[in-house]
Amino acid sequence: MAGVGLWVRKIRDSLYIRRDIVFMQSAPNKAIPSLYRITRLMLGVFIPILILIGVFNGVRMSSDFEKMINQVEQDVVHSLHLIDDALEILETVFDRQMSDGLNEFMQAYHDAGQSPQDIDLMALKSSFKDTMDVYIINRNGVVEFSTIEQDLGLDLTQWADFHEYLEAIREEGLPVVDRMSRETLTGLFRKYAYYPTPDKEWILELGIKPEVIAEYMTKLDPVQVGRRIALSNDVIDSIRIIDRLGWELSMSSPEQVDASIMDKANQVRETRQSLEFISWNTSTRYILQENRGHMMSFGAPDQVIELVYSRTRLITGIVTNILVTLAGIIVSLVLGYWLKTVEEELRNHAIYDGLTGVFNRRYGMSLLEIEINKASRLNSPLSCLLIDIDNFKKINDSFGHDVGDQVLSKVANELNQTLRAYDVFFRYGGEEFVIVFPGLSLEDAEMCSDRIRQLCAQVSVPVGKDKTIQTTLSAGLVLLNANETSKELLKRADMALYEAKQGGRNLIKIAA
Ligand code: GH3
Ligand code: MG
Ligand code: MG
Repeated sequence: MAGVGLWVRKIRDSLYIRRDIVFMQSAPNKAIPSLYRITRLMLGVFIPILILIGVFNGVRMSSDFEKMINQVEQDVVHSLHLIDDALEILETVFDRQMSDGLNEFMQAYHDAGQSPQDIDLMALKSSFKDTMDVYIINRNGVVEFSTIEQDLGLDLTQWADFHEYLEAIREEGLPVVDRMSRETLTGLFRKYAYYPTPDKEWILELGIKPEVIAEYMTKLDPVQVGRRIALSNDVIDSIRIIDRLGWELSMSSPEQVDASIMDKANQVRETRQSLEFISWNTSTRYILQENRGHMMSFGAPDQVIELVYSRTRLITGIVTNILVTLAGIIVSLVLGYWLKTVEEELRNHAIYDGLTGVFNRRYGMSLLEIEINKASRLNSPLSCLLIDIDNFKKINDSFGHDVGDQVLSKVANELNQTLRAYDVFFRYGGEEFVIVFPGLSLEDAEMCSDRIRQLCAQVSVPVGKDKTIQTTLSAGLVLLNANETSKELLKRADMALYEAKQGGRNLIKIAA
């Protein structure tokens, strides 16, 4: 029960303080703004700002990542266009070389009396510095002579489209140089040129060796270019260009891509829309590179660029950002909580007496002022009791200062607990206490005071094994006069108290 009483008392006290601070004009604490309230207000602004900065940073990181991706993609497309232009130049050089070669071939045909078996094909080949192979195709579309032995007897009619193409050339009777093309089966680049003989009996054919093309193309290899872009940028992991046939676009060492990647590339080509696959640490994009009709596509339609981006930096950036924001919020909250605790301690220090836990003199006096003001304003009575414990020095002398402290504390708390909610009880000094009874007439206050006097006599503090100490109090009771100050009021109370002591102690005397 005592525990509950203490809590009720504590809550009541806290309400009392708050009421004073909020409503009482003259409350001393009104002048001290609540540090905690200010801090809470600042935190209310500061934490949302922290969160906003965090969100802003996160959004900025994501948009930077997007920008970087766009930059990389533009770089790749530009590089491919450059390669394309270079290939166009290379094709022109090869075209001229092959036209000259065809004329030389035709000259050799005539020099040999128009009988192919008399042409020294090997000599012809070496006059081309071994960069081209030569073939002679007969009326039936069969390779009858060639510098490549395994191609001898090759029946070209088995490729109907190609055969038809050749027959058209034969009819036309003019030299034709093909564009570079890529072999479906090997991925190697080839370039051929044809010259039908005037009697349409034979077709003289030249083919640039794939190694010769590859030698030039290695320098223009998109794989190398992609690798260089990937190396210079830590956001991109790899770049691949995939052509219509599923070849990774490499001039020197072509590789076929997986069927699943081929499917994705086809989907991009059909829908003409980019695809994106995101895992926690990578983002793989497939974008379309439109065929400008240049060399790069080698006659095939648009190719697809596969770009694999690393998201590790983005993710670690965002996670760090979240952690920093959270840490900021936690630090702010801890700081706020700490300030609240410190302020509470300071407030307690300012209000309560350290030994007894009841209001201290400074705070008690301010409450007395408030009550005096209120009583004058409302014209209501106010009584005040000044208490002094009897023969306290003896207790100290006999049992020591510590026991004296215990007695002081116990008496103060017992008395405090019997009072009404609106009574003010505080330690006035050493073993002196003051009780303010707002609204009580002198008669009522006298009754209360006497009850308090009796209660004090009953308080016992155990010392040693089976000994207890009892004590009594003497007090002076005053009724507030019109226009009286707290000082004057207490002076009269002190005089009454003196009378009580003179009267033999354990007495209440009413001031004149
Ligand atoms: P009287 O009945 O005339 O009041 O006698 P008294 O001994 O109580 O009066 P006096 O004023 O001579 O002595 C008061 C004593 O109270 C002196 C002082 O040492 C003691 N005292 C004051 N404050 C404290 C305190 O916080 N703790 C303890 N243990 N003693 C205190
Ligand atoms: Mg005294
Ligand atoms: Mg005393």
